[in-house]
Amino acid sequence: MYFTKSFIPILKNNPSEAKIKSHQLMLRVGMIKQSSSGIYSWLPLGFKVMKKIEQIVRDEQNKIGAQEILMPTIQSSEIWKESGRYEDYGQEMLRIKDRQNREMLYGPTNEELVTDIFRASVKSYKSLPQLLYHIQWKFRDEVRPRFGIMRCREFYMKDAYSFDISDDAAFFSYNKFFLSYLRTFKRLDLVAIPMAAETGPIGGNLSHEFVILAETGESKIFTDKKIFEVNSDDTKLEKQSLEELRKKYEKFYAVTDEKFNNEEFEKKVTEQDRLITKGIEVGHIFYFGDKYSKPMGASVDLTGGKKVFVKMGSYGVGVSRLVGAIIEAKYDDKNEVMKWPISIAPYDVSIIPMINKNDNTALEKSIKINTEFIKNNIEAIIDDSDENLSSKLKKMNLIGSPFQIIIGNQADGDTLEFKETGKKSTHIKLDEVIKIIKKEKEKI
Ligand code: ATP
Ligand code: MG
Repeated sequence: MYFTKSFIPILKNNPSEAKIKSHQLMLRVGMIKQSSSGIYSWLPLGFKVMKKIEQIVRDEQNKIGAQEILMPTIQSSEIWKESGRYEDYGQEMLRIKDRQNREMLYGPTNEELVTDIFRASVKSYKSLPQLLYHIQWKFRDEVRPRFGIMRCREFYMKDAYSFDISDDAAFFSYNKFFLSYLRTFKRLDLVAIPMAAETGPIGGNLSHEFVILAETGESKIFTDKKIFEVNSDDTKLEKQSLEELRKKYEKFYAVTDEKFNNEEFEKKVTEQDRLITKGIEVGHIFYFGDKYSKPMGASVDLTGGKKVFVKMGSYGVGVSRLVGAIIEAKYDDKNEVMKWPISIAPYDVSIIPMINKNDNTALEKSIKINTEFIKNNIEAIIDDSDENLSSKLKKMNLIGSPFQIIIGNQADGDTLEFKETGKKSTHIKLDEVIKIIKKEKEKI
């Protein structure tokens, strides 16, 4: 991609309306554009990152055997009346009337809709468990949309739903999602801690929030530092191993302020291990048994003619919020340097040629390098603008490719000035550059 042909509307300065660094960066490099309060368009750079995050989320859902579906954004109020949540959900739900005067709504979440899909087709216990997920826009009319896409009204979310025959089987499903979340956040190069959580309007009795530490987060968290040492690498996708994994985490005190109890905190955590800080909720999983299946009549037949209401859980990841959360974790706003994890970077590498009016050597060299990159599946952005080197570097530091190549105008010889974004340059050959970038990409 040539910078001059790209749609990356960069601003010279930080926009004054943005209070936190992710919002600043996203507006500054034109990842998003606000369309009205809490509602955003996603421009190419932002959309590219979000789509890569979505793909990792999807991949990890598929790996635990969840199946993807697509449900509509607009739902009928009927099913919400059946579950009893139409009134309860309150003002966060955007209610709409169609031309026949039927009550519709823009889905804030999809438990009812997926239960309706399930009950129409699944009749026997033999078809269980079922794990279904969708990645879709949701709308919640938040009282105070803020921090850009972190708390907005229309947002992109992965939500999964599990259907099981018993509590015990349902916990197995729950634990599969627990593991898939740990794996997802790891691939995004984030440290997310699972914290015991209140179940809120979704209801139920088992719930974890996945929170990443960040000064600008809205959740206050209280945790035992030892939780950061838990390792999930050797967990197998089988009942026993998953149970042990959850226990390994649950051993340590880790809650948000809703569940905080000081006496318990001081009793369970030694003074030097107590950590009180802030975090961003990037995922939330719930077990809620037959809360929806019972009022909505979603049951399966057992042997001997008995019926049982299916036991359900739901599992959300804020895909669009994750874009902001990763910036909060990775952006060095003092030096204005962003370095995306290579798994989701909009470009793997920025090629920065110094271009003089009458000398195209550096640009030509960039194009040749890019041809080699393309052969090796490496995606580059070439800054072909006629700005000076320091403003090009500034700009590319904001765009955040994990690697940069700087090509001087006396560009001869076959060594290149190569750097990891934010670090010092080295001079190496193109072959080695390709090797380094490919090796990084293989780790994904
Ligand atoms: P919060 O506590 O932040 O309001 P929630 O508990 O209402 O979130 P869930 O219903 O658990 O959210 O939704 C699953 C995920 O969707 C959350 O973990 C979060 O990452 C994301 N999410 C929820 N509300 C918003 C929002 N208004 N803007 C962006 N992402 C959101
Ligand atoms: Mg929550």
